[in-house]
Amino acid sequence: MKPAQGPGFETQCIHFAEDREANFGAAAPPLYQCSTFTYPDCEQFVGRAPGNGRYDYTRVGNPTTALLEKKLAELEGGEAARAFGSGMAAISAAVLSCVRAGEHVITIDTVYGPTRRLLSEYLPRFHIETTYVRGTEASDFERAIRPNTKLIYLESPSSLLFELQDLAAVAALARSRGISTVCDNSNATPLYQNPLALGVDLVMHTASKYIGGHSDIVAGLLVGSRQRIAALSTMEGELLGGIADPFSSWLMLRGLRTLAIRLERHERSATQLARLLESDMRVARVWYSGLETHPQVRLAKRQMRGHGCLLSFELRKPGREAAFACVNALRYFGIAVSWGGYESLAIPVEVPDPADGRRKWIVRLSVGLESVEDLKADLYQALTVACGAQ
Ligand SMILES: *Cc1c(COP(=O)(O)O)cnc(C)c1O
Repeated sequence: MKPAQGPGFETQCIHFAEDREANFGAAAPPLYQCSTFTYPDCEQFVGRAPGNGRYDYTRVGNPTTALLEKKLAELEGGEAARAFGSGMAAISAAVLSCVRAGEHVITIDTVYGPTRRLLSEYLPRFHIETTYVRGTEASDFERAIRPNTKLIYLESPSSLLFELQDLAAVAALARSRGISTVCDNSNATPLYQNPLALGVDLVMHTASKYIGGHSDIVAGLLVGSRQRIAALSTMEGELLGGIADPFSSWLMLRGLRTLAIRLERHERSATQLARLLESDMRVARVWYSGLETHPQVRLAKRQMRGHGCLLSFELRKPGREAAFACVNALRYFGIAVSWGGYESLAIPVEVPDPADGRRKWIVRLSVGLESVEDLKADLYQALTVACGAQ
């Protein structure tokens, strides 16, 4: 799925669209931390038009943000991108750009919590309804299609139990029915999965996770065709106004420079921890999209090139108490939401098992960039605290 020719991913992260000569040879691009841009005379001011080489106002466009947008479009294999002030700003802009009052959305049961609240608690104000499906089979979506369905919203892998959707099959189905598709690609990143190449219309990223990578920004991105991105930039972008500020764009550019190398380490460490957990008698089940035991391993191999830092496990000792004891005993894993940063994190979560609907407590880990031997030892001692010796 990687483009057959042209520079590689890491090279594009570092060099694509950079113009160091125009900036005194500066190795890092300048941060244009300004709200407005001045014009030399009234004639140019009244004749101003977007895209004529000048900038006007940062809510509409900013050179630091534009460099980031160009880079991300290139990395996702899209024509254009738009940066937002959070992943949720990007998601709400994407959804609103696809639906009108009275229309219908289909998404997955395990979709990111705030996305679910947007669809279930906010959009009904505009008589927009959502149907939730498991989504592991394309036919799950097909059965839920109504005459007024206008959007299929995907998230693959999802971020608690890492279920996948067959992006090419769902995109083809949607396209044949005139339905738009959006995919939250935050978990796979542009390094490991490119939904646009599989026919999806819009790709979303929360840059608060891997793209930022340092747990120091909240930001989001959308990538798609020039036409879609231009339309949603002038409507949802400019009018709802949830744009990225230049400093977070600058930090996203910084994050991109090390994205590939960080992800390699995240994947290596997460795989080692997942295998350790799988071989531990005190663990009932491990969910990691990169394991050979993942129920959708063939689909994962077909549409993904790698896996990230997120994994979940269920203790053999059931219930909230054991999960809490395990997480409380961890030394290097902070107890916090979010993921994809340099530091390891852990949370206990109660989820319905997608297979039988039974609610269970699991532990979700975001495996950071610490020495993996320390993380392994930490996890092992936390299991001993929670469940006794193996
Ligand atoms: C965090 C997250 C988001 C939302 O991003 P914010 O930047 O926090 O608004 C969306 N999707 C997934 C899968 C996430 O984990």
